[in-house]
Amino acid sequence: MRPRSIAALLVLFALIALTSAGVRTDENARESAPAPPPQGADGSIEPELTPIRANPLPPGAAAAGAEEIKAITRAYSGRIEDSSYRDGEWAVRIDGRWYYWEEGRLLTADLRPRAEEFTPLRFYRYYRGPLRIREVDSELADRLRNILAERRSDPPVRHPGFQDALYGVSSRAEAENTMVDVTFLGRRTRVHPVTVEALRRVENEVREAASRNPEVEEFVGDLNAVEGFHWRNIAGTRARSFHSYGVAVDLIPGYYGGDFGYWRWAAEAGVEDWWALGEEDRFMIPQPIVDAFERNGFVWGGKWLFFDPIHFEYRPEVFLLSPEDTE
Ligand SMILES: [Zn+2]
Repeated sequence: MRPRSIAALLVLFALIALTSAGVRTDENARESAPAPPPQGADGSIEPELTPIRANPLPPGAAAAGAEEIKAITRAYSGRIEDSSYRDGEWAVRIDGRWYYWEEGRLLTADLRPRAEEFTPLRFYRYYRGPLRIREVDSELADRLRNILAERRSDPPVRHPGFQDALYGVSSRAEAENTMVDVTFLGRRTRVHPVTVEALRRVENEVREAASRNPEVEEFVGDLNAVEGFHWRNIAGTRARSFHSYGVAVDLIPGYYGGDFGYWRWAAEAGVEDWWALGEEDRFMIPQPIVDAFERNGFVWGGKWLFFDPIHFEYRPEVFLLSPEDTE
């Protein structure tokens, strides 16, 4: 093909891209659309929790993703090359490619027209400190009761492109090469390098707490294993678990004491209102350990509606979106 024809084709593609981008952003209907059904497991797919934004933003596409993109850019400044408002939405650039907000889906331009096929990453307001079990109204309760059946018939799909780029891992082989060996609280595991420093600080703080608090000391002593990297999807979904990127760690106890260590265990055991289970029926982690993780950028899965109390996930951007006094 002659260079002129190639140039003409490029112009044509650019026009098509501009037109489709225009269609998406003019639509603007998702701002007022009903909330999507709740989704969960391994926690990183969550139903709408508390309002995401620290400050209510005026409606309109211009603001879409502004706060979240700012937080992502700050949290991963070593990876994010640029962020800007372009083609009707906020976007971040990694390795020369732009990822558009798309309600948390963070999609490249070619995937934006297919946004509805994908489930978003959740950016939520997170509260620090002790667990407060969430009140669930009857409407949400009905949806939660059906969640396992819905998952079986139509497991949510998340496009992995943004996370693959962010963590530099897009295949199991790449992941295996990226992970580093660490010892955490005396147990060996593998994690992504981005978490190593934070985990080291968590460990120091937990050790310090254990020296004063017998409950913490006992928990650490009873740990069966620590599981970081594990290439897998989130149970019941087609979304890559944060364990696949080595940015989540499970503290696996030797003994659950008859408590539910995961929301699915309760749901599958026939607990009808599993989301309302009290602390006495959930596996709990001593508060000083939760505090140490939170101080270092890890959210605790025990606070998710789809509770996963052995799970901690490195989400510094979530803390940037959550002021200290978040209710
Ligand atoms: Zn986990």
